[in-house]
Amino acid sequence: MSQYYIWTIGCQMNKAESERLGSYLEQLGYQATGTAEVADIIVLNSCVVRQSAENRVINKLNSLKSLKKIQPDTTLAVTGCLVNSKIDQLKKSFPHVDYFFKPGDYPPWLEKPESAPVLPRHPSPGVFVPIIQGCNNFCSYCIVPYRRGRERSRTIPEIACEVKTLVHRGVREVTLLGQNVDSYGHDLPGKPDLADLLSELNAINGLARLRFLTNHPKDMSSKLIEAIASLDKVCEQISLPVQSGSNEILKAMRRGYTVEQYRQLVTQIRSKIPGIALSTDIIVGFPSESKPQFQQTVNLLSELRFDTVHVAAYSPRPGTIAAGKLEDNIPPAEKKERLNKIEQLQEGIATEINAQLSGKTVEILVEGKVKEKWQGRTRTGKIVFFNDASNCLGQLMNIRVEKTSPWSLQGKAESSSTG
Ligand code: SAM
Ligand code: SF4
Repeated sequence: MSQYYIWTIGCQMNKAESERLGSYLEQLGYQATGTAEVADIIVLNSCVVRQSAENRVINKLNSLKSLKKIQPDTTLAVTGCLVNSKIDQLKKSFPHVDYFFKPGDYPPWLEKPESAPVLPRHPSPGVFVPIIQGCNNFCSYCIVPYRRGRERSRTIPEIACEVKTLVHRGVREVTLLGQNVDSYGHDLPGKPDLADLLSELNAINGLARLRFLTNHPKDMSSKLIEAIASLDKVCEQISLPVQSGSNEILKAMRRGYTVEQYRQLVTQIRSKIPGIALSTDIIVGFPSESKPQFQQTVNLLSELRFDTVHVAAYSPRPGTIAAGKLEDNIPPAEKKERLNKIEQLQEGIATEINAQLSGKTVEILVEGKVKEKWQGRTRTGKIVFFNDASNCLGQLMNIRVEKTSPWSLQGKAESSSTG
């Protein structure tokens, strides 16, 4: 039987697209393998959001040169955000690659599936479902709009039909994906929004939980906040990237909101949705970010106390507004120091937030096993580990938390399956 190997880095959107590509190849009769050397088709699903990710993609591509030499019949293809509109240039730089295709597309040398997307036959209990592609925002540092194009939403009936099929195949939790998920629907006839989609999906029998990411603060409406508060399957977890605590830097980033507006939004969310877990993204070392401006970010994080913070050092992306107009003038060592400072601060905050769960009972959806322990997540997205001899996969379980850390919880099953 012919085999395929898919290598994926980057965001959840890439992971979802790789999963669907794998299902499509399986429908065509290919079998998954974890070893590139034995595969008939190799697909690299790339990310270039930062230079470090791009370097990993290029290293992986170069490491496959010798394999292609020995096995010229193996098809090597690249998709994801490395693929820009200048495919001829890419072909010149990587002549050993047979095909480049746009993120979310299907391999161009194979027949297109009759009904796209092709969904996994045996999905995990929790799956990602892309609902809106692309981004219209053009934040000054970000390559995504240039690689994934403008926003395109899928219709509510199409998404609902897909979720029903997935639930029928055993899925209990769905995470709706978009680079800017809360702007969902503005490009569709009648302009339905994410709140409308959530209420439609909330009614699907057998589905237990709904999440969505990533949100843009300027598109988080009061209607959406009300929907999260009132719909029982929508989990108490919101991603809300702030990127900086300085208004000058936010302006240079072209984020479209001020720190004051962001703070007001967090207050509104927390007052309407008790127990909500918030996560955010931060970029440190943006061009000309002064020490006091960085300190404003530190202060904002100390004040708002997020459950999770994803922090990245600014990386100039050729073709973006910031890379063209602003000098990357914060030295790497200084960026690293700022990054470490935020990570340390957040470790302390997450330690305290998670410690409050000690001795409490949380409901988790069991998603799999890691090193002999079952692993699941709470509605607020906390990772929980526990031991159990029975098969708990896909079950909703009550776990009594015994031990906490900034990154995860450990506990004991109180009741077996409730789902
Ligand atoms: N759409 C979301 C938003 O509005 O923030 C996030 C999507 S973005 C692809 C994921 C994260 O990558 C961003 O939140 C940002 O922190 C980080 N990122 C994007 N471009 C970057 C750059 N040039 N340098 C460093 N980090 C970057
Ligand atoms: Fe990039 Fe900004 Fe779009 Fe997020 S909103 S994907 S950071 S351009």
